[in-house]
Amino acid sequence: MKGLAGKTALVTGASSGIGQAIAIRLAQEGCNIAINYRKSAEEAEETEEMAMQKACGQVEECGVQSLLIQGDVSQEEDILEMVKAITDCFGGFDILINNAGIQKECASHEISTQDFDRVLSVNLRGAFLCARETIEHFLLQNRSGIIINVSSVHEIIPRPSYLSYSISKGGLGNLTRTLALEYAGRGVRVNAIAPGATHTPINEAWVNDPKQKAIVASHIPMGRPGTAEEMAAAAAFLASDEAAYITGQTLFIDGGLTLYADFRETWSA
Ligand code: NAD
Repeated sequence: MKGLAGKTALVTGASSGIGQAIAIRLAQEGCNIAINYRKSAEEAEETEEMAMQKACGQVEECGVQSLLIQGDVSQEEDILEMVKAITDCFGGFDILINNAGIQKECASHEISTQDFDRVLSVNLRGAFLCARETIEHFLLQNRSGIIINVSSVHEIIPRPSYLSYSISKGGLGNLTRTLALEYAGRGVRVNAIAPGATHTPINEAWVNDPKQKAIVASHIPMGRPGTAEEMAAAAAFLASDEAAYITGQTLFIDGGLTLYADFRETWSA
């Protein structure tokens, strides 16, 4: 895709699922990639290996480079260190993918303050802190830049028993639009992708259970969950110059989930 080769991207939570697929896809498009992971260095190394294979497998002299960075996006000091590490290694960066995310299932009247805060501090506060430091970096280096937030269909669809998750993703939508408006005149584009049900570890409750998976699929107009690679393709598009005139948007990638499957057949006059 136009404009990605030679850029440098930081992908948070890139050791699994959608973040891993985005890191691999961006490397394939010629980006240097900084792979943030929280816990599993082995999984992050797998991401790196697959990304470099895609980027350089067929090429003799491959310019693509990678960096593994451990860090918890809910910790401000970790984010400052991440930005420093990536700047020291690559001289700076051009693309931030705010992907790290968690969810906790609990009836809303029973959720503990601690669990509520944890989800918000990773999914929303973490995305804000990464965006803040990244934008400051873009402005200091006088470079244009891209931020992509990995939101969810639950940015707009309420999700009972996942209150903190729904709130975090609703907030990400407004984070996206507000930053987009504030920095549009300074060369920073901010967009979001909003996956529907996607085949990744966060959905371990149903991905490996054929019965549960069929139930999930029955709610999706296109009749199947999405893949991490389909989410990565959309993120790469929004990060590329093909999307040069797009900012402040959330792109729903959901097989029609946000079209409300219940309305497939007429049930009211
Ligand atoms: P996943 O569990 O594989 O990925 C989440 C990643 O975030 C993991 O690698 C995890 O280690 C990392 N992470 C968690 N806490 C972190 C922290 N404090 N600091 C740094 N990294 C941290 O699941 P996924 O489906 O790939 O999720 C990626 C994003 O996509 C999440 O933001 C999720 O909300 C969003 N999403 C997923 C789906 C889906 O159906 N899979 C749907 C909509 C949105």
